[in-house]
Amino acid sequence: MTTIGDNLQRLREHLWRACEQAGRPHDAVRLLAVSKTFGPDAVRDALAVGQRAFGENYVQEGVDKIAAVGAVPGIEWHCIGPLQSNKTRPVAEHFDWVQSIDRLRIAQRLHEQRPAHLAPLQVCLQVNVDGGANKSGVTPSELPALAAAVAALPRLRLRGLMAIPEPTPDFESARAVFAQVRALFDQLNANGLDLDTLSMGMSDDLDAAVAAGSTMVRVGRGVFGARRYPV
Ligand SMILES: *Cc1c(COP(=O)(O)O)cnc(C)c1O
Repeated sequence: MTTIGDNLQRLREHLWRACEQAGRPHDAVRLLAVSKTFGPDAVRDALAVGQRAFGENYVQEGVDKIAAVGAVPGIEWHCIGPLQSNKTRPVAEHFDWVQSIDRLRIAQRLHEQRPAHLAPLQVCLQVNVDGGANKSGVTPSELPALAAAVAALPRLRLRGLMAIPEPTPDFESARAVFAQVRALFDQLNANGLDLDTLSMGMSDDLDAAVAAGSTMVRVGRGVFGARRYPV
């Protein structure tokens, strides 16, 4: 097996144990393999061992890779990087998911630009529960209005929330931050939305995220190795 195959196998076992420890079903958490900066061959290695969901941060890099890898049954491409309004069209035309929506203007453009022959774009709202004003993500107080507005756009399907908390020193403080995201998610569902995706947790805080109810963890280096250039 390739190194990537070994890494994925190890991560699946890790996730299985984390779910067990959290008293959750073993398949409660999906793994998003963050392939930014890695080429199509790395994606093919991951495909060969059954990985299907891939995350990209940069629009042009992602679009080129999607074309190079081509059609594969069940493959899903997730845009997880900050999105500017002049870059929405290629995202609407080529990606399956966008996890980093933090304002209505971007959502409206994606809705208008999503081609009619494709399924609705699956989207998450990025929420900023712990950062300063300069960090990406909608604030908790602005979240309900944004969620309601995005849920009303028929070419988008609002699936849930994504968060990238600041690193924390220990498990309990990481879990407390993730629990805030989880509470916002539960509140939106209690108010009538139908969300099923909580994208939170990366290599270092995966267990805390799973304990707090994450349904999707995003791992790059832990799957593909060290990145050759910084991001
Ligand atoms: C790069 C990235 C990841 C993965 O980070 P690694 O350190 O490579 O595991 C996860 N989420 C987002 C939003 C990212 O940009």
